[in-house]
Amino acid sequence: MPRPLALARRAVIATLALPALHPARAAENPFSLGVASGDPEGDSVILWTRLLPAPARPVPVAWQVAADPAFRRILAEGQGLARPESGHAVQIEAGGLPAGRPLWYRFRALGHDSPAGRTRIPAADAARIAFVNTGCQHYEHGFFTAWRHIAADEELDFVLFNGDYIYEYAGRPVGTRGSVRRHEGGECLTLEDYRARYAQYRSDPDLQAAHAAHPFIVAFDDHEVENNWAGPHSETSGTAAADFAARKAAALQAWSEHMPLRPAQRPAGAAIRAYRRFRLGRLATLHVLDTRSHRDDQPCGDRLQHPCAELFRPDAEMLGAEQEAWLLAGAAAPGLHILAQQVFFCPRIFPDGRVSTDAWDGYPAARERLLSGLRARGVLHPVVLSGDVHRAFVAEIPGGGAEFVCTSISSEGDGREADPAAPALLARNPHILFHHARRGWTRHEVSDDGFTAEYWALPFVSRPGAPAHRIARFATRPDRPGVARL
Ligand code: FE
Ligand code: CA
Repeated sequence: MPRPLALARRAVIATLALPALHPARAAENPFSLGVASGDPEGDSVILWTRLLPAPARPVPVAWQVAADPAFRRILAEGQGLARPESGHAVQIEAGGLPAGRPLWYRFRALGHDSPAGRTRIPAADAARIAFVNTGCQHYEHGFFTAWRHIAADEELDFVLFNGDYIYEYAGRPVGTRGSVRRHEGGECLTLEDYRARYAQYRSDPDLQAAHAAHPFIVAFDDHEVENNWAGPHSETSGTAAADFAARKAAALQAWSEHMPLRPAQRPAGAAIRAYRRFRLGRLATLHVLDTRSHRDDQPCGDRLQHPCAELFRPDAEMLGAEQEAWLLAGAAAPGLHILAQQVFFCPRIFPDGRVSTDAWDGYPAARERLLSGLRARGVLHPVVLSGDVHRAFVAEIPGGGAEFVCTSISSEGDGREADPAAPALLARNPHILFHHARRGWTRHEVSDDGFTAEYWALPFVSRPGAPAHRIARFATRPDRPGVARL
């Protein structure tokens, strides 16, 4: 445990001024879910923790940011309030901080000190930025060993999480359908269900280690709410709109409570503005997109389908008009444009002619509108980052640009080097250059030399302790077409 925080005098006075706030030390450590930081920008970063267990009243939480891991040089400190109506989560905007160097932070509440976390903010003039893209961490499908490896990478500026932070499904006995550990409780429907699911996931020591080691920039996909939802539409046709809106509001509230987010990303009922952008040094703009909240319903039926007439509707919306306009307005910035989003972007035609209507293949008019809008603004070779399919792919975007699809942290279990179906899929889609079906992550670097993608994979996740191997490396540049295998 770190030494107790020396609370600033004003923080102590503020504590005493609040009614019913006992300085007595709680019996149980309330920092069972660890600490996190995220959305670093300018001179500030968001610090997160959630007190569990916590008494049924507001609890003051003191925080500190230091220049050193021993907290000798305090750069900023203050106090927040963990409220029962927010699940006793706090999201502190710590400002006035230096960029481009490691920072350490910690909390104190109920007489306990949190573990210390490390974070950093990309410097405005940074000439090299390194980050990880990953997602899809089905708790039942495997151990979060990948996070332990990611936590150990001290060169990372941040982790980009592209979606499926939790899976909403009911617990299944270990040993059934690939389950190696079990979800607590039934299918998530209420705020309490979703909160408990996040608490279970965030109790994982490997995931806690990754959050304590790096700031995260998080997006959600479908399973934070329900498999394959689309805007106001539940996957289950016939679900009353009001019922799904209530479920979505509960799910998004729990998501936002557990992530290090800025106030602009807090939901209002079932509505949320999750898309946002970050400047990565002098090199690139990172557009974090929401391909779930503003899309129209999947055409031709969900999942893999043969194209029907509806697929080619010219007014198809994947981002929604507002987000699309916002994205194109941000495309004027110089340098590389990185679109961090959820679902497979390039065409992926299965050998029998079917496509995934939940991916951009279900919204081809929206994809073409987006690409031509980017081209019109001089963005000829965007980099698109994706997840969702629990497999690694690299593809050249027809017309220009590159797509790097990361695999999953644990979803679908151990996997294998290559799907037996992969050769036929790649033959049908010559723009797809690479495929791999183990669990892991992709590590990216942006520099004056361009953009690189390193694919890292684990031989197994069905038991702890797997080593990690770099299996392939690719490069692309914003000023020329194509992807090179290094
Ligand atoms: Fe997934
Ligand atoms: Ca998904």
